[in-house]
Amino acid sequence: MEKLTIQDASRRLNISQRDVREYIRNGELKAERDPDSEHGRWLVIMPDDTWQDKFKTYLDELDATITRWWWASQNKSGSVHYLESTGIENVEPEYLCGQRAENLWSSVGHTANDRCLECLMRATEQGLPLFEEEVSGI
Ligand SMILES: [Zn+2]
Repeated sequence: MEKLTIQDASRRLNISQRDVREYIRNGELKAERDPDSEHGRWLVIMPDDTWQDKFKTYLDELDATITRWWWASQNKSGSVHYLESTGIENVEPEYLCGQRAENLWSSVGHTANDRCLECLMRATEQGLPLFEEEVSGI
């Protein structure tokens, strides 16, 4: 059985470290404390390949059904940015305007004014769906 640190597991599984922790918390991934570590770091017990397939299917489904607009920070300050795809190949999301973020937070209930102008312009240029129906307060 292979055990990897959270950092290595996130690379291997192509998900963020935050997601790895989240999956450990909700039981999707198994983990144990490293007995050789002073700080009690976690080791992820690597799942078999079917886990990754299941996760990829989940992401693909997510991709097709949800908005592409996301907050780039947990406290939902600044702008919501456009993510072209949830990108299993990227550990960290990269928004259309080029900004990177550690993770993404749902933009449910955001207003048109919250949208990053650069992202909006590029999405419009490229003919990407803007999910106008999700904007409140128009
Ligand atoms: Zn942006």
